[in-house]
Amino acid sequence: MTRPIQARIHMDALAHNYSVAKQLAPRSQALAVIKADGYGHGYARVVRALPHADGFAMLNLENAIALRESGEIRPLMMLEGFFDREELLACAEHDIWTSVHSEHQLALLESTPLPRPLSVWLKLNTGMNRLGFRPEAALAMAQRLRALPQVRLSALMTHFATADDERGIAGQMARFQPVAAELGLPVSVANSAAILRHDSARAEFIRPGIMLYGCSPFAGETGEQLGLRPTMTLEADIIGVQTLQAGDEVGYGARFTAPGPMRIGVVACGYADGYPRIVPSGTPVRVDGQASGTVGRVSMDMLAVDLTHLPAAGIGSKVVLWGEGVAIETVADAAGTIGYELMCAVAPRVPLVEV
Ligand code: PLP
Repeated sequence: MTRPIQARIHMDALAHNYSVAKQLAPRSQALAVIKADGYGHGYARVVRALPHADGFAMLNLENAIALRESGEIRPLMMLEGFFDREELLACAEHDIWTSVHSEHQLALLESTPLPRPLSVWLKLNTGMNRLGFRPEAALAMAQRLRALPQVRLSALMTHFATADDERGIAGQMARFQPVAAELGLPVSVANSAAILRHDSARAEFIRPGIMLYGCSPFAGETGEQLGLRPTMTLEADIIGVQTLQAGDEVGYGARFTAPGPMRIGVVACGYADGYPRIVPSGTPVRVDGQASGTVGRVSMDMLAVDLTHLPAAGIGSKVVLWGEGVAIETVADAAGTIGYELMCAVAPRVPLVEV
């Protein structure tokens, strides 16, 4: 038997959100970021939802090769590049763009004759200290790349650590821009937060991720407030109902005590589906379209919701955990995390259904 839970993927919303990025940066090529299996939506599904996208940025080479083998001809960019010689050769063979951010990769490039030309983006570490060369090393690295006959150094990139908060991008841009001016290459710097807030970051290539999935990169602001639409609705059915008296307790740890007579519904969604266990009672849900909240601790496969004020609700009622009518940012906030993590953590046992 199939448990009554699904994550509905709103294909039109993906296309709408992509168009928001394009409207903000009409002169940029927008590479839709589909890493982490399209932020939990299914990377191939996201590609299908975006027939007009300029290209895609990702991490998993197998996904990129599968797209090429299925006939995808748009640019595919590997954000972390290749990890060994085999992957490097595969990038060249399948015309997959790659970033170069380490001496290890440069050494592989210098020691591997390539069968075909390879487009390479040089990645700078301008302050995040994750991947990339320090700006002062960039010119030498560019020179080495330009000396390789089959390598086309085609862009300069960096990634922002604080585009979503008050620190913004100024410090990192100050380190990036002199190198960009010196090298005269096309530039790619903007993630969603920078696309939405910093017009100076809307350069030749932009890399929208979370905004495509309808979620805000900013604390205290929802995607809807930014003109985005939710792309994933996690929904499950009520599979049991309990009638409580004052003093009755609910769930593991008896963390909730009924203050008076109550009805609760038991929903076929738990932390093993990807709903965060840590949320407190009262985290918003919608039951058959009506606002309600969670009750007690989330279990592995179930959670409880308040039906006291919803007399018509019962077994078979549909409960939206996030998505349409329940901002994923609100649930993420209640769990002390971000929408990115919730979307990526939807468990494989939850069927993804395109609508
Ligand atoms: N570019 C790079 C290099 C990334 O690692 C990411 C995601 O973290 C993105 C772009 C997209 O970022 P966001 O989802 O915040 O738009």
